[in-house]
Amino acid sequence: MPTAPRVVFFTGAGMSAESGIPTFRDALTGLWSRFDPAELACEAGFRRDPALVWGWYRWRAARASTAMPHAGHAAITALQDVGHTVTVVTQNVDDLHERAGHARVLHLHGSLFASRCIDCGRPADPEPMREPLPEGADAGVRLEPPPCPDCRGLLRPGVVWFGETLPDAAWQAALQAIDACDLLLVVGTSGLVHPAALLPERAARLGRRVIVIDPDPTGIDAIATQVLRLPASAGLQQLQRLL
Ligand code: NAD
Ligand code: ZN
Repeated sequence: MPTAPRVVFFTGAGMSAESGIPTFRDALTGLWSRFDPAELACEAGFRRDPALVWGWYRWRAARASTAMPHAGHAAITALQDVGHTVTVVTQNVDDLHERAGHARVLHLHGSLFASRCIDCGRPADPEPMREPLPEGADAGVRLEPPPCPDCRGLLRPGVVWFGETLPDAAWQAALQAIDACDLLLVVGTSGLVHPAALLPERAARLGRRVIVIDPDPTGIDAIATQVLRLPASAGLQQLQRLL
């Protein structure tokens, strides 16, 4: 019996869009337009105004916590259930892949639910991003980050900020997964954020099939074997046909 193809999913903000979490592009016309993400999503911005940045992430985490996985997530789970080796490499900081039951998820840009001390690095426990927001809070809510019990440093969100390097373990594991895969599905990423966008290029160079699922043109289309101009849910429901 031929072995089931090893499949890697490389996902971006578009994977979570149908669960109601805005992409960067959507965000520019929405709530995030009140803030400059480059200003908030960096260590200097956090140190300048910890309550503004912590509050903004708490609001994002609360939204992510109530978002539900969609039919596209379920299609990936179904592939796992029939015995395929599936790895999800995601740029997303929400936990929709985990909540959909995806067994192996590599977070290249960290997680909203992995807060740690900005000074000594101690992981927060319990995770403060799981706390409910105060009544009526919006994206601009000001909340003081709690202090680290060890060193009294501030807790910071567990996401990769501008100017920071990707977590090495996740990056190395992602490279290995790409090298070992038969098929790479690129879902809902503009392909503009580096070095994450190098992964599809690597797969193509190695001669792997690369399939893009995105309703709009992306920076990866040119090297793809196949492009499905569809939202993630509709595209991923065609998975069985694509294998
Ligand atoms: P991006 O905003 O640059 O690109 C989003 C892509 O998704 C676009 O190509 C768009 O056409 C596509 N898209 C929109 N709706 C879609 C749908 N229904 N189905 C499939 N595709 C759809 O996002 P990116 O490439 O992930 O990179 C930007 C950065 O944004 C990343 O670093 C990521 O960490 C961060 N981000 C994460 C989240 C999240 O965790 N959910 C949300 C916003 C931004
Ligand atoms: Zn500390």
